[in-house]
Amino acid sequence: MKNKVFWFVVGSQHLYGEETLKQVIIHSKEIAEHINAYQENPCIVKFKDIVTTPDEILRVCKEANQDESVAGIITWMHTFSPAKMWIKGLKILNKSMLHLHTQYNQELPWDKIDMDFMNLNQSAHGDREFGFINTRLRLNRKVVVGHWKDEDVLKEIASWERVAATYDKSRKLKVARFGDNMRQVAVTEGDKVEAEIKLGWSINGYGIGDLVKIVNQVSEKEIDNLVLEYKEKYIINTTKIESIREQAKIEIALERFLKCGGFNAFTTTFEDLHGLNQLPGLAVQRLMEKGYGFGAEGDWKLGALTALMKYMAQGLDGGTSFMEDYTYHLEKGNKRVLGAHMLEVCPSIALDKPRIEVHPLGIGGKDDPARMVFNSKEGQGIMVTLVDLGDRFRMIANKINLKRIPEKMPNLPVARSLWEALPDFKTSATAWIYAGGAHHSVLTTSLSMRQLQDFAIMADIEFITIDENTDLNQFENELRMSDVIWKLKGIK
Ligand code: MN
Repeated sequence: MKNKVFWFVVGSQHLYGEETLKQVIIHSKEIAEHINAYQENPCIVKFKDIVTTPDEILRVCKEANQDESVAGIITWMHTFSPAKMWIKGLKILNKSMLHLHTQYNQELPWDKIDMDFMNLNQSAHGDREFGFINTRLRLNRKVVVGHWKDEDVLKEIASWERVAATYDKSRKLKVARFGDNMRQVAVTEGDKVEAEIKLGWSINGYGIGDLVKIVNQVSEKEIDNLVLEYKEKYIINTTKIESIREQAKIEIALERFLKCGGFNAFTTTFEDLHGLNQLPGLAVQRLMEKGYGFGAEGDWKLGALTALMKYMAQGLDGGTSFMEDYTYHLEKGNKRVLGAHMLEVCPSIALDKPRIEVHPLGIGGKDDPARMVFNSKEGQGIMVTLVDLGDRFRMIANKINLKRIPEKMPNLPVARSLWEALPDFKTSATAWIYAGGAHHSVLTTSLSMRQLQDFAIMADIEFITIDENTDLNQFENELRMSDVIWKLKGIK
């Protein structure tokens, strides 16, 4: 992400003379450098140009489209920039845009202010003219308002850059599927062609034999080295080293396959493991820890979403994992969700050093798989899922508070999380079920609701929030209204 570039493009016109334009360039460079130097800035922000004519604007937009390193542009109208000049450029721009509504001067120079100052510092109306044309063109863009040195403004820009860089990544994302969806499951299905049109995801299926071939080529020496790494990073809580070696072999082969094909995410299914001795468990957890997305039971939507959310969160505190609402604690006044999966939870959310253990798996009919077992950290988080409603993709996000797990649970051989869903258990689960939310989600403690919503806006998919303000009556109305809105849009 740190190599992605955002161009700072500043609008003006020739009405005020060369001297004013020189000032505009000097100020614009200073602002771009300030944004770029901000400690939380995840990418590169570069002053590109001031643009003063329709041709210049069109040229910059064409260049931005063609430059692979450019993930988006940040625009600002230092002076007035008649917005008809922007139409041709904005109509072809296919990169994300942030409209920064700022002003070079922080305070009015009360005793010195004259009409030259007014003409130079007129973003107050220059940016409104620009805002109109974006709205008139129905452009998805982000508006950030405030002085460019204010911390909240810099934070908002940095946060949006993560989203725009992730959207850029989304358009190049590749998912490898080993086997199909688990038979008869509905929510993990969806329209892969539409996902590629809408989100840019290339979802490709492979026979498990394609993977098994590579697994069988892994050398004993490679396995020895990887097991040494396991011993350093995790607690080995078993004597069944052969089972761990089997997962090491799968990890090496899977990573080789993914690297070779340029894949960012993958799926497995326990119904199709011919030639593999174990369901990939530890191997999947390790690859998620390295940043790969994963979806269980053929769930390519969640595999892709996990990859993108991990990408968006890189360098931030917290963790991001594939997750499933598994079972409940329904004590009065203390209702909790216990989240886990058969094996595949990412150690980026672990409280302590994970323990590698080997236990039988009730389903799938394979050898006992090695897996990492741990409890997750406490703190605020978000559960996010993505469903295909037939006429559109819907992203649903629910705020949660991750809790300390109060008991040992010695017989539960998987990594787990315990949380309180907002606004409360009953409202959260009711809303989630009305919205058609899946049992698979991505749990993140690194990202904000705003970032997820900004991503949905960029990708033009529906976004549904469940948080401390959710009221069920309003929520049900929102869902009904939303159905009408998306039908009127007439596109998926
Ligand atoms: Mn599952």
